[in-house]
Amino acid sequence: MVGNRRQSSPGVLDSPVQYVKGIGPKRAGVLGQHGVETVADLLYYLPRKYLDRTTITKVKDIKEGDGEMTVVGRVESFGIRRGRKPRFVLILYDNTDFLTCVWVGGVDYWRHKFRPGEFLAVSGRPSYYGGWQIFHPDFDRLSDGEDEELVNTGAIISLYPSTAPLKKFFLTSRGFRRVIKAALDSTQGRIGEILSDDIIKRNGLFPLEEALNQVHFPDDLYHKEQAWKRLKFDELFFFQLMLAYRRKRVKTDKKGISFPKVGVLTRRLIKHLPFQLTDSQHKVLREIYSDMKSPRPMNRLLQGDVGSGKTVVALAAMIIAVENGYQAALMAPTEILAEQHHLTTHRFLENLGLKVVLLIGGQAVKKREQLLRQIKEGQAQFIIGTHALIQEGVDFKRLGLVVIDEQHRFGVMQRAILRKKGFSPDVLVMTATPIPRTLSLTLYGDLDISTIEEMPSGRKPIVTVVRDESKRADLYRFIQEEVQRGRQVYIVYPLVEESEKVDLEDATRNWRRLKDEVFPQFRVGLLHGRLKGEEKEGVMEVFKEGRLDILVCTTVVEVGVDVPNATVMVIEHAERFGLTPLHQLRGRVGRGGERSYCVLMISGYPSPEAKRRLKVMTRTTDGFKIAETDLEIRGPGEFFGTRQHGLPELTIANLLTDGEILRRARREAFSLVDRDSKLMNHPRVREHLIRRYRHKWELAGVG
Ligand code: ADP
Ligand code: MG
Repeated sequence: MVGNRRQSSPGVLDSPVQYVKGIGPKRAGVLGQHGVETVADLLYYLPRKYLDRTTITKVKDIKEGDGEMTVVGRVESFGIRRGRKPRFVLILYDNTDFLTCVWVGGVDYWRHKFRPGEFLAVSGRPSYYGGWQIFHPDFDRLSDGEDEELVNTGAIISLYPSTAPLKKFFLTSRGFRRVIKAALDSTQGRIGEILSDDIIKRNGLFPLEEALNQVHFPDDLYHKEQAWKRLKFDELFFFQLMLAYRRKRVKTDKKGISFPKVGVLTRRLIKHLPFQLTDSQHKVLREIYSDMKSPRPMNRLLQGDVGSGKTVVALAAMIIAVENGYQAALMAPTEILAEQHHLTTHRFLENLGLKVVLLIGGQAVKKREQLLRQIKEGQAQFIIGTHALIQEGVDFKRLGLVVIDEQHRFGVMQRAILRKKGFSPDVLVMTATPIPRTLSLTLYGDLDISTIEEMPSGRKPIVTVVRDESKRADLYRFIQEEVQRGRQVYIVYPLVEESEKVDLEDATRNWRRLKDEVFPQFRVGLLHGRLKGEEKEGVMEVFKEGRLDILVCTTVVEVGVDVPNATVMVIEHAERFGLTPLHQLRGRVGRGGERSYCVLMISGYPSPEAKRRLKVMTRTTDGFKIAETDLEIRGPGEFFGTRQHGLPELTIANLLTDGEILRRARREAFSLVDRDSKLMNHPRVREHLIRRYRHKWELAGVG
């Protein structure tokens, strides 16, 4: 990884690992199998953890209930304890007391592993059986004198990931320390810098060479931290640099549409709203206007928690497009949501003399053909739909703006296809999946972001409780009271693909029971994804108009559904739901001025994870906090569910914990592309980018 021009290309770091003293063809071979082919690869083979005095526990200080710990000591003796399951037992002495390490099984393997008198660092969770023991500890062999160093001088020793094949060639932690030391010695003074001085200075970064030295052989904890900070910065910086180029290309190369008029229609819409826009809504609208006015294509993400009022913002944007003679499309993730948007839009717009159409799957052929014609010929000004909008055969006359609701449901691909249908239309994607900011900077790193930060005023916080079967009678009494006060209620049953049939039966059976036995005096409706389009539409409309008191449903109502008079959300088998769906479902209530309730009904014994989810739900209604917890529980990959999530593979930085470094790296990368897009004044960055990232450019659609 080098950008030093004085050096002859390809540079010392690009030499094969065999260049390093102590690495012959055999070691080079096994390293190659682990992706370590060049000197640079070896220098970037980073420690998995460090040992120092502060991380080592004395055996005499171990207390019951202490968690994972590391003990350093000398091997006193070892042997095999025969029995039903033979064990290998090793006694370690650390000058304060003895520690017993036990491995069950594999005794023939272990008996040849150790020598009496050698020093080990062993890690694990100790337990007491007449003396302290650790079962199946992780261990590292220390070289002569290292134990002394660790304990007496405060030295820090790095431990490396290793595998059985690597260990066969003595590439244990100790082995790695040796060859990496040799690599550092032989490249001393020749590891070229890859960032420019101003960036290094502004962000208080170690020079690359120092960082690589300190990451393997830190002087102290401070140097270790700084070394990691520098390497993480590099990784995030070059990634953000690619995003910056992608965004720049969208903005400058493609000529977009300018919508100069913001006038009569927009004003009329706002005047006719039954409420005042919040300051936050005004703020994001201004950001959207300014994008739409400019001839560059808009690529904006509108974030706002569930219920924050994104729909009117989208409507206002769509009206601008239409006012300027273009069509506007709104794409929703489910038919129910598309239908609801159709109703809302209809209500607001048809009075203004505008033509709104709904295009979804399952419409009669005749009807569909007619709709397609209207879209193609331009009579249809607002087109609302599901993914059916991006299918073959849907042609727009003059598509100017595309709004994508609940973006997290759509793959990146679909976004791209729809974009192609117009003449580089402006794109506004909306999401309520409150994405922790570090992730949105990465996942939507090429989009501009607008955030609605406040809820419409007058909302009361939703009361959330967890209840089990023993409280069911109370629950039904409570529902009865709410309905008698004129409120409406959702009762949601889980429905997942794996057990769809059973789930559906469960929901249907319970609907009958509720309708006939529990609440015969009320109007109880049923809604699930298997109903035909029109039936669904019918049920939803009837509920919306208040002609149903209770709606029994599956998670089809999860996103977007908006019935402000509904004040109770009951979620059955709440332990089966993930945090994001729970939050989305709860967001269906608390949309009016009345106090609302969310009852999480559990059955059986929830797992510890489920308990944690339910607890978070009762503690907060803040979508960002919930998302962060979700991310903590599941990790970034799972969080987005699919492979398509588009998150980069980071090997050094951690999106969860390195937010501050990410923000700095991003700021530098974006400002660099703004100021010096050809990188004329930043040759090191340019060289590194070309050398290391060219293949990734194509993937990122940058090139
Ligand atoms: P989401 O952001 O979840 O899509 P919606 O756009 O569905 O939220 O809005 C939620 C509810 O709040 C709707 O009933 C909407 O009419 C209402 N609403 C939107 N903006 C305001 C506002 N400024 N004041 C009061 N109610 C509002
Ligand atoms: Mg919505």
